[in-house]
Amino acid sequence: MTRDKWHDACFETRAIHAGQDPDPTTGAVITPIYQTSTFVQEAVGVHKGYEYARTDNPTRTALQMALASLEGGAWSLAYASGLAATQNLFYLLAPGDHVLLSDDAYGGTYRLVARVIGRYGIDFGLVDMSDLDAVRAAIRPTTKLVWVETPTNPYLKVVDIRGVVDLLADHPARLVVDNTFASPYLQQPLAHGADFVLHSTTKYLGGHSDVVGGAVIGNNPEVFETLKFHQNAAGAVPSPFDCWLTLRGIKTLAVRMDRHSANARAVAGFLQQHEAVERVFYPGLPDHPGYEVAARQMRDFSGMVSFTTRSGYEAAAEVVGRTKVFQLAESLGGVESLIEHPGRMTHASVAGTGAEVEETLVRLSVGIEHEADLIADLRQALNAAVALAVPAD
Ligand SMILES: *Cc1c(COP(=O)(O)O)cnc(C)c1O
Repeated sequence: MTRDKWHDACFETRAIHAGQDPDPTTGAVITPIYQTSTFVQEAVGVHKGYEYARTDNPTRTALQMALASLEGGAWSLAYASGLAATQNLFYLLAPGDHVLLSDDAYGGTYRLVARVIGRYGIDFGLVDMSDLDAVRAAIRPTTKLVWVETPTNPYLKVVDIRGVVDLLADHPARLVVDNTFASPYLQQPLAHGADFVLHSTTKYLGGHSDVVGGAVIGNNPEVFETLKFHQNAAGAVPSPFDCWLTLRGIKTLAVRMDRHSANARAVAGFLQQHEAVERVFYPGLPDHPGYEVAARQMRDFSGMVSFTTRSGYEAAAEVVGRTKVFQLAESLGGVESLIEHPGRMTHASVAGTGAEVEETLVRLSVGIEHEADLIADLRQALNAAVALAVPAD
């Protein structure tokens, strides 16, 4: 938890250097993969800060220092997945406590709350976090965690982080912001007053669709001790290789996010013009209801775009089945563009909860390929959907 010497450097520089000094024993410029489960002790209890690799591993330490630096936090803890990180935050709760969650929270977060921790006497409520009056009404005296995602998935709603912080000013509940869709380059929730940032590093931070991981970042030293205890006690830690892959991804985060955002802006503009498209959801469009809040709390609008097709499920299925550059797959945040049908794929598990998505909804994770290829690919797929909608004579 010592302050990194790169503290005063710019984001792009910290992404490459914070926590990532050359290896002290060999001078290796890149952080080594410390593929070891244990560490030798000179005498009982005399060691170099590492004993057993579930507790701590130097490659993980480097990743944690980098993530803390990028989010502007005092500390960070890394986990085997975003959901393992989420579960670790839930270890702060006790029976009788209440969690307030976005009504379109990540499906896995919802499933963990509703079907796992709910069995241990923890209560939860769902609310549209972009409506601050609704949030105020939904907070209970027993609420201990308020769980915000912004932008949300898959409708890209924008939540005013500072607005929720102000609502909680006289309430003991802690605010978690799942910052996966924005990444620390575009949005830094701790600076807006959030207590914790949660990441699925699987997405933009890793950035190359080749590793699953998660992290929590915060400032409060006492909570750090509690979470650190549970990180070790429950054991859902990332492997040294996974930490190394994530660090490798982080080095290029800034340049990738600039391109993801530029491409998504172009794609959203194109979709708005196409006759097969009904509505486009992208916080960077000035007519998006969250545009002003997003412009205030984000550096740019990231790479996620959703839209509905005009003519039913068939048209949506046609589009997701016809793109070639956009590959049909779940997940997001990699350099390659992905397309999916939330109703039948990522959000199938929310069926029956009241948080269902429209069956004409298509979600894009816009990658960093050339914008012209992305638009041409969507155009040919959407044109096929239009042809489908025209009844044969
Ligand atoms: C993917 C994701 C998660 C879960 O992370 P995993 O690494 O898949 O466990 C949580 N929140 C959001 C917004 C996500 O996209």
